[in-house]
Amino acid sequence: MNAKKKEKAPALPALLNRKISKTGQTRGADDDVIYQNRVNRCNTVLIPFHQWKKDSELRKISSNFENGFIVLIQPQDYFSQSDPTQMLSQYALELGENCLVFYETRHDWNTHNPQSLGWECANNRNAPLGGNYVARVPATTASHDSGKINHGYASQSPKGAGIRLYEYASSDTINNCRSQLEAIYWLCFDSVEVAIKYGMTKEGAEKRRELCFKKCEELGLLDYERLFQQRIINKKHRTICPFCLKELSGNGFYNRLEQAEGREVPDLTVTQINLFHIDELKYGEFNHRPYNLGWGHHHCNVVVKDSGIYPTLHWIKEILDRNSENGYEVK
Ligand SMILES: [Zn+2]
Repeated sequence: MNAKKKEKAPALPALLNRKISKTGQTRGADDDVIYQNRVNRCNTVLIPFHQWKKDSELRKISSNFENGFIVLIQPQDYFSQSDPTQMLSQYALELGENCLVFYETRHDWNTHNPQSLGWECANNRNAPLGGNYVARVPATTASHDSGKINHGYASQSPKGAGIRLYEYASSDTINNCRSQLEAIYWLCFDSVEVAIKYGMTKEGAEKRRELCFKKCEELGLLDYERLFQQRIINKKHRTICPFCLKELSGNGFYNRLEQAEGREVPDLTVTQINLFHIDELKYGEFNHRPYNLGWGHHHCNVVVKDSGIYPTLHWIKEILDRNSENGYEVK
């Protein structure tokens, strides 16, 4: 008997597909920073030297990064050494191979000018890096010689040398996250109905949902108890906002609004839904992993951002208590 060919899943509506696909990309960087914007989370990782130095575990796992890493050392840390080459070699680093001096201030630029040292700026993400330094010095108005200095990884597309360490995820993790995030969409109380509204047939939507759940099970994902513990779904196995716990409608997944910071357009007809990190992103942890990711209201995401869910809830409780103590009852 012939092996049964794997059933092809009907395509998702384009807007939903794009929203899920984008979760595997970095965001929030512009042309004047060293980081890449909207690239895969498995790209070259940039690691500050002080972190590389103190974290032996990080040094051990660094060979697993799919597209390598570059350690960035500040000029003062590099030039204060009597023998910087020897110092770097103690940490398995070599300037121009897996390490670059990173200029961020005009003072450093003037004090240890790389051009006067005959250095080239780097433009490769794999060894050899093609130079010894990279610079992102902002413009100042103080003197005549004050234009911004963007040297290295500044002209190619996409710009930037690599991604932040905490943004990194392997290709497998990125794909697992995408699969489970799609399943969490299908767990919204009206997901099929809304998918039909945005162009799928009823049979197509139901088939897609079934295949998505099946795929997640094969991958060992979709542990409902864990999703409940992580505030991603409720006891009825319906998708909720991890902060306010309201059940989410599938409608919030379909919008064309770009999510770039500072450019949000309030939309009164749709409560916009964004990717939601249960534990906030921070250095020293890789938080792009399946059970740390859900979907939540854009507004709730903004409120929780950087602080985390429980610290934000404590803050709100304090505010409500203080209001009550002062006679302003919140009813
Ligand atoms: Zn919410």
